[in-house]
Amino acid sequence: MKRVALFGSTGSIGTQALDVIDARRDRFVVAALAAGRCTEAFLRQVDTWNPPLIAVGDPEHAAAFVAARPSLASRLHVGPTGLATIAGSSEVDIVLNGITGFAGLPVSLAAADAGKRLALANKESLVTAGPLVMARAAATGAEVIPVDSEHSAIFQCLRSGGVGDVEKLILTASGGPFRTWSAERIASAGPADALNHPTWKMGPKISVDSATLMNKALEVIEARWIFDVPAERIEVVVHPQSIVHSMVLFKDRSMIAQLGLPTMKVPIQYALTHPERTTADTPTWDVAKFANLNFESPRLDVFPALELGMWAAREGGLLGTVLNAANESAVAAFLDGRLAFSDITRRVTRTMERWRNDVPLTLEHVHAADAWAREEAARP
Ligand code: MG
Repeated sequence: MKRVALFGSTGSIGTQALDVIDARRDRFVVAALAAGRCTEAFLRQVDTWNPPLIAVGDPEHAAAFVAARPSLASRLHVGPTGLATIAGSSEVDIVLNGITGFAGLPVSLAAADAGKRLALANKESLVTAGPLVMARAAATGAEVIPVDSEHSAIFQCLRSGGVGDVEKLILTASGGPFRTWSAERIASAGPADALNHPTWKMGPKISVDSATLMNKALEVIEARWIFDVPAERIEVVVHPQSIVHSMVLFKDRSMIAQLGLPTMKVPIQYALTHPERTTADTPTWDVAKFANLNFESPRLDVFPALELGMWAAREGGLLGTVLNAANESAVAAFLDGRLAFSDITRRVTRTMERWRNDVPLTLEHVHAADAWAREEAARP
C-alpha cells in the first residue's frame, strides 16, 4: 500500500485524485488531506477518508476546523510550515501537490528534501524555483513525476528515448476559449467568457491562464526545468481537440506522442503508479471518433503571453518567479473585475521589463522577487 498525501484536496486535481484512489483502494491509502481553507467540502472529505494527517493552509481557518471537528485537533497542521511538515512526514510515500499558485512551493521543497515521490500538478513550483526544486530532489533521490497533462505526456514519451536525444519537446495547447476570437473581441472579454474553457474543466485561475495562453507560458518554463531541456528545444502547437497531450521529436526524426481523452485522471493515476500501468476507472475510447485532429501555430500577436514564457525559460534566474507573481496578481484583479482581460499580459510584461535579473536563485530571493512583482503588477 502506498500512502498518499493530497495537497489541494478540494480543488479540481484533488477531487479527481480522490476518485482515482477510491477506484484503487487495493493499492493506495489517503495519508493526509490538506486544503487552503476549512470549507464544508473539506470537512466532508475528512469524514469520508479519516486521514491520520490533516492540514489547513490558511491559519485563520484553523480555529474553524477545530470548532467543527474537536476530536481531530491533534491531527491538524497549520500554515505553510504545517503543510511542509506533512509533505516530509515518515507516514507519507507520495506527495500529490495540487495546490494552486506560489502557495504550493513549500510542499514541493519539503517533498524533495524528504526524498518522496512528488506527483506535481503545482506547475508554479517549477516556474518560480525550478532549478532549486530539481536540485534538492536530485540530492535526495526524490522522484518528480509531472501530473500536468502535457508534461505527463512528455514524461511518457521519454520512456522511448533519452533526454540527450531530444530535438524538440512539442507542447500542445487547446488554444483556450478565445482561440478563434478577434483581438478586439478578446479585449472586452469578462471573467465568465474566460472561465468557459472548450475542452478542460478546471479551477478559475488556470482557466484564465488558458484564455491568455499564460498557462502555456508557465508550462514552457515548467518543461525547461523538469526535463532539463533548453528553451530553444521547446515548441508550442495549438491542438483544439486536446487529444494529443504533447509530443517529442527525437534526433532521428522519429516523433512520439501521447494521446488520451481530456481527463486529468489519467495523468494523476500514472503519477501514482509509474512505472506500472494499471486499469483505470475512466472511459475507454474509439480512435474513429478523433478522425479530425488539427494542429496550428499559435497567434503570437493576439496572445503575447506565450513569448513571455519563452523569455523566462531562456533567461532563467528569477524571471520565472517575477512572471508568475505578476500573473497571479493580475489574474486575481481580473477575476475581481478590477482589471481588463488584455491588461493581464500587459501588466506581466511591464513587471518583467522592470526586473533586474541579476540576483542568484535562492529561496530568500524567490520570496523577495515574488513580493516585489506582486506589488509592481498591482500598480495602475
Ligand atoms: Mg497542462
